[in-house]
Amino acid sequence: MTDDARPTIGFIGLGIMGKPMARNLLRAGYRLTAYDIVREAVEAIAGDGAQPASSSADVASRSQVVITMLPDSPDVETAYLGPHGVLEGARPGTTLVDMSTISPTVAVRVAQRAAEKGCPMLDAPVSGGDVGARQATLSIMVGGDSRVFAQVEPILSVMGRPVYCGGNGAGQIVKACNQVLVAVTLVGMAEALVLGTKAGVDPKKIVEVLSGGLARCGVLENRGMRVVQRDFAPGFRIRLHYKDLNIIREAGRAYGVPLPASSLAHELFGAAVAAGRGELDHSAIVTVIEDLAKAEVREK
Ligand code: NAD
Repeated sequence: MTDDARPTIGFIGLGIMGKPMARNLLRAGYRLTAYDIVREAVEAIAGDGAQPASSSADVASRSQVVITMLPDSPDVETAYLGPHGVLEGARPGTTLVDMSTISPTVAVRVAQRAAEKGCPMLDAPVSGGDVGARQATLSIMVGGDSRVFAQVEPILSVMGRPVYCGGNGAGQIVKACNQVLVAVTLVGMAEALVLGTKAGVDPKKIVEVLSGGLARCGVLENRGMRVVQRDFAPGFRIRLHYKDLNIIREAGRAYGVPLPASSLAHELFGAAVAAGRGELDHSAIVTVIEDLAKAEVREK
């Protein structure tokens, strides 16, 4: 059922995350215009009731709120600032919400350009993965003007739990902190499982036991058994987490914070990408430790 008093939404970037997020907005009754550089992705969401658009500018010209869910900083710059981009089509007053994980400095720069056009912009990256996107349980970290946040909070709440973190870029900083913890924990889990398995213990047992003690955590809960079963379908791709680790190191340099554990994780994720595993789920980082140990984590 559509409520016409509610703002019209434009959605750009219909990948693993964007597609289910856009679907949830449609299910909640929002009128949605959608675009992706991959035509099939637009056709699929049109089948769910969205209006297809031909460019980011086209989306922006037909929407009061524009949401983007794109891979990386250069994609966000292209989609907003490039030819046929969002800022070309947006009217002053159109609210822009970038939910991609990108560099905090790029987030601030794009928001400044948007402000020059009279468009308030928020950075609102998420955590919770593809499952959270489908189940509308994403944790949403928001940076920008708190009054703009208050206006779009009902829309963000359809996709998960939005938390206001501070001015422009603050959402991306909190997301970077999240990615530090997830990457370092994934590496720790990989080492634990390879050590235990090579020493002769059933890795399923290791996941079971560790899930009940101090080591229990979301990473173990979500990915532990998947590693044991060698299910590395994404999920969150290794190449995207490698991208996030680059953002993290850049932020560490910018703010003068040494990040030794993240730097090690960065190199291990880089090794996975170099080995041609960038499209696998980030839990496949275990394969890098397996290569080093000449052992494989397998159920007994
Ligand atoms: P994805 O690669 O599956 O999807 C990105 C989509 O953007 C693709 O469909 C691509 O065709 C489209 N795209 C790229 N450039 C475009 C442009 N200029 N204009 C229009 N469309 C364009 O990636 P994803 O897994 O959905 O991740 C999206 C963002 O969310 C990333 O920043 C990622 O780091 C973040 N994220 C992902 C997860 C996850 O579990 N997948 C979790 C949290 C955050």
